[in-house]
Parts: sequence; C-alpha cells; structure tokens
Amino acid sequence: MSLESERFNRQIAIFGARGQEKIHSTKVVLVGFGGLGTFVLPQLCLLGVKHLTVVEHETFSSTNRNRYMGFLHSDFDAEQGIGIDKVVVAERIAKGIDPEIDITLIKNKLESREAFDAIAKSDIVVGCLDSDGARSILNELCIAYGVTYIDLASEVFENGTFGGRVAVVKDGTGCLHCMGDSLDQTEVRRYLANDTQLENEARVYGVEKESLAIGSGPSVVDLNGIIASLGVQEFKLLITDPQNSSRYLNYRGHLKIISKVSVDQHSNCYCCSLFKKKEAANVWRYLKAVNC
Ligand SMILES: [Zn+2]
Repeated sequence: MSLESERFNRQIAIFGARGQEKIHSTKVVLVGFGGLGTFVLPQLCLLGVKHLTVVEHETFSSTNRNRYMGFLHSDFDAEQGIGIDKVVVAERIAKGIDPEIDITLIKNKLESREAFDAIAKSDIVVGCLDSDGARSILNELCIAYGVTYIDLASEVFENGTFGGRVAVVKDGTGCLHCMGDSLDQTEVRRYLANDTQLENEARVYGVEKESLAIGSGPSVVDLNGIIASLGVQEFKLLITDPQNSSRYLNYRGHLKIISKVSVDQHSNCYCCSLFKKKEAANVWRYLKAVNC
C-alpha cells in the first residue's frame, strides 16, 4: 500500500476508494478565510481535496486573534499594528497538510474577475462570509454557472442566544433567497448600494453613513468550529453519499439542537430560474459596481 493511500485508509473504509477519488478530483473554491474558513480549509485538506482556490482580500487583524485556527501569535505585528495576508496562512496550512495540493490564492474581493472566473469553473464553492450582500452575489453566481454552493453562517445575538446554519444551493431547486430565512434583505440592499444611496439613507434615519455598513458582531471560536464541521460534513456527503446529504441544517446552540429544515424545491424564485444560464444571467454586472 502506498503512503498516499495509507493516509486515507481510515476514511476509505467509510466511503470507499471511489469516494476518495471523487474528493481528489473535485474543484473547490473557499470564499472567505476568516472565523469559519480557518476551520473549513484544514478539514478539506485532510479529507483529500487536491484542487483548491481560496478567495480572501484581508489581512489578519488584532481582533481576529480569538478565533482563527492555524494563525500564530507572530502573524500579527503588534508594534506595527498590522497582520499577515490571510491567504498566505491559507497556503501555509494547506501545504503543511498536503505539500502536493494544487492551491490557488486570490487576494481579492469576491466581486473580482479572477474570483468570478475561478468560481464559474469550479464544482463546489464553500462560502464562509460575514455579509449577506456578498452571500447574495455568490448565490446568484453559483446558480448561473451550475456550481453547488455550501453557505455557512454563525451568529451570536445580544439576548444570549446563538447558533448558525448550513445551506446547500444546487440544481436550481432552492437558494438563499427562497430557502428558510437565509438573507437579511436590508443588508443585501445596503451592500449593493452606492455611496450616494447610502448617504441618502443615512440622512433619512438621521445616522452616520458608516453605521449602515456591515457591523463586526460578536464571534467565538467554538461556535465557528461547530458550523464549519457541519458544513464540511455536508461537503463530504454531497460527493460520496448524496442521498444522505441535506439542503438546510439549522443549529440552535443555546438549546443544543441541530435540525434538518425541509426545503420547497419548486419555488418560483427569480434567482433559481437563472440556473445554468451562464453569461445570459448577467452576474458579471456586479464587477462593474466595484470597478474590477
Ligand atoms: Zn431561489
């Protein structure tokens, strides 16, 4: 037995050599390497993903240091007040697990030509975003190009409740707009608005424009780990045992409950109607908004 097959011996016992081969050959894009993404990436590499693209434009910040798995104390320069590029750590972790992995790093926003290109050519996208606006764009892009999209979200509320969810968008039969209660439409609208529109809205509410931007809410390591692992579990099942995969899992942490939410797969959703329409879906219009 070769060293490589020995490496996967324990899981080939679960889903077979054919399942392992499928994981090896799947082209995966991870969008967002933050609290959730840092838990997802090493698990994908340990499962045996061989073709991985990571999209992340930020650097490691001081407030990230309570929850980023795989980042080191030295990755943040306290004297200078700046941290390492997050994608550099993504590569360090991936190649540390598998030196042979084919990994592409995109240090750019989701709304960039190179990210859109990589996503349109991929098989599965795992979204680890903290903005419903970005989720909305990724949702539409994946539907238009027939790419399966696993969206992860964790949330801690001020009243002490916390939890998250895993939503799987695929086949044009249910997306983040029509499944469950997946997107905050006000947040989506504000994300897509231009400066003038935001200034007008701020004037209406009598608040500063900055207060309408996506906030940096509370976030904690254990919750991210649970949601990330639920998402990777669905990733594994989608590839090796699709009959047992789910479309929507809801986690209510304060109640210790994970529930499978049933999804109406025959909605009249506009986004779902764009399934595999590719260029005709015109999702590339989002690039113009950020001058890419
Ligand atoms: Zn839909």
